[in-house]
Amino acid sequence: MNDQYKKLHQISQPKFSFRFCPVCGNPLRTLRLKQNEPHRLVCSKCDFILYLDPKLAVSSIVEMNGGIVLVKRDIGPMKGSWVTPGGYVDRGEEVKEAAIRETVEECGILTRVKDLLGVYSYTGRLVVVITFISEYISGDLIAGDEVQDVKLCRSSEIPWDDMAFQSTTASLEDYYHLKKRHNIPSKVKEPQSAFDRA
Ligand SMILES: [Zn+2]
Repeated sequence: MNDQYKKLHQISQPKFSFRFCPVCGNPLRTLRLKQNEPHRLVCSKCDFILYLDPKLAVSSIVEMNGGIVLVKRDIGPMKGSWVTPGGYVDRGEEVKEAAIRETVEECGILTRVKDLLGVYSYTGRLVVVITFISEYISGDLIAGDEVQDVKLCRSSEIPWDDMAFQSTTASLEDYYHLKKRHNIPSKVKEPQSAFDRA
């Protein structure tokens, strides 16, 4: 069993999860249904299999006046740290719509999804983050739902040591690398872009 599989195996163990069947209420038991797959939680009565699926989240990188929109979290995990606007995708919700909704809720601005930047997942972690590059359309920046503060950061002002999640840091690094590779200036009404100054 390699290290990656061990981590996957550990997070699938029932001590971190559920005891009773959500369908009929009888106890769940732990069974290995297939070799080389994690143990599954199976109902002792109705055979319902409770798959412990990943949790899907979205995040948006939005530029305004040459800065990237960051929000300071007002809830755990990582309360008080900075993150790009985002949150969980609701079941049945289109992923891009979730990105737009979360951005409005957290910082008040309407955006349009332009491109997929990346998909961020890490062995042993439950959350998979899909990060989009989005375009500002309208509205004023406000500290909205579950947010303490909001600010625009140029590349030299990003609080790298105070970012909430590994995916936040990785996505911002990818974004700046992408811009550098394609030599895309930030949209600023100044002789030199914030990106070029970094
Ligand atoms: Zn059951």
